[in-house]
Amino acid sequence: MMGVATRACARRNRFQLLRTVCECSCLSFSNSCMQQGVRVSDVCPLLLSLSPHGRYYRGYLSIDGRDFAFALTLPSSGELKDARIECDWLLAQMLRGKEALLQKLLQESEDEASFLMKLKQILTHTSSSPGLAPPPPPRHPAHYTQLLADLDTIGWKRVTRVSQDFSQLTITTLDGKQREHVFTVHMAQKEEEAPTITCDLPIPFKPSWTGKTTLPQMLERFEEQLKVHQVFWDVMDQLDRETWVLEPQQPKPDSICRRIVVCSNVSLYVSVDPSRPLSLPEFKFLGPEHVVGPIRRRMLAKVPHWDSSGQLTVKENLENLMDLKLPGPEESQQEGFCGECGVCYAYQLEGLVPEVVCDNAHCNQPFHFACLLEWLQTLPTTRQSFGVLFGECPYCNHQISVKLQR
Ligand SMILES: [Zn+2]
Ligand SMILES: [Zn+2]
Repeated sequence: MMGVATRACARRNRFQLLRTVCECSCLSFSNSCMQQGVRVSDVCPLLLSLSPHGRYYRGYLSIDGRDFAFALTLPSSGELKDARIECDWLLAQMLRGKEALLQKLLQESEDEASFLMKLKQILTHTSSSPGLAPPPPPRHPAHYTQLLADLDTIGWKRVTRVSQDFSQLTITTLDGKQREHVFTVHMAQKEEEAPTITCDLPIPFKPSWTGKTTLPQMLERFEEQLKVHQVFWDVMDQLDRETWVLEPQQPKPDSICRRIVVCSNVSLYVSVDPSRPLSLPEFKFLGPEHVVGPIRRRMLAKVPHWDSSGQLTVKENLENLMDLKLPGPEESQQEGFCGECGVCYAYQLEGLVPEVVCDNAHCNQPFHFACLLEWLQTLPTTRQSFGVLFGECPYCNHQISVKLQR
């Protein structure tokens, strides 16, 4: 056990070293640098990649000498178009009305660095427009009197956070099954502008607003949406309770995806439609093709048999379609069911589990995406074609491939 821990630790140190090499002499192993010569750190030096292959970026965007808190999270698929952006209130104000443009940028940008470069260009233009640069002036005293009265009505026990200038208010509320939900209101700078709301609904939430809409009324609309999504959360809770979920490890209420174990080294991404949670979810298998192929064919042939009446759970439906029994969460305790990575000898690497498996039926060795990518990049025999690296499995020399971008 000591050996495993030491090797895993040694590998993590190696990642650190590679990053240092990249920064010093541009022998980068990052995708964007290899392909275009531009790295996220070049565009946004204050934005740090918190995972080895760039899935989570956290830090600050510097625009015209001002730093704005910013986070970019790529989904498990690595698709930039589905990336999630979080930012501070003022930056959110600057991006208001530009949601479609932002989505277009995400869809059309080749990588994170080029997206951030274009985003900064747009924001540089926006921040120079009058009215945004100076801090917002305080609102009329009547606004604060009304807010305090609204918070009294809601009940202070439910108010979990109020910012110093009362521009952000966070309220916690329970749904019919006692699940906790968070609702944050970001007040607009001007009285006639609608506040923005962030919450944990699995769909965008933009309640209708007039200048007379009060905080309790907005909360009431949020609670109506909580009722609408009860079946969705029941389905997700059921999946968490009855299947062995690999990702996300701590699902949030707005998470519509689960990666569940099917059998040894095979997992299934399930994406549930929040508006039709009982219907057939979108799915994608991960695992060696010689094992996944027959399961996928069985499943596709039986798709018309999916029962969306609610009589069968999602797990039971999936088992019927795949014609096998899915392991439950209790089986996650069994060692060796889903193997450790063949490069770092660890099961989890920065929260991620191995997801690339050698396709040789006699090998089936799993690897972390980042570990295999790094391994193949160090081999002189590795070839690259259309964003995919082709090389040899570190265990059996069978051909193995990995995309440069997850
Ligand atoms: Zn690994
Ligand atoms: Zn192999």
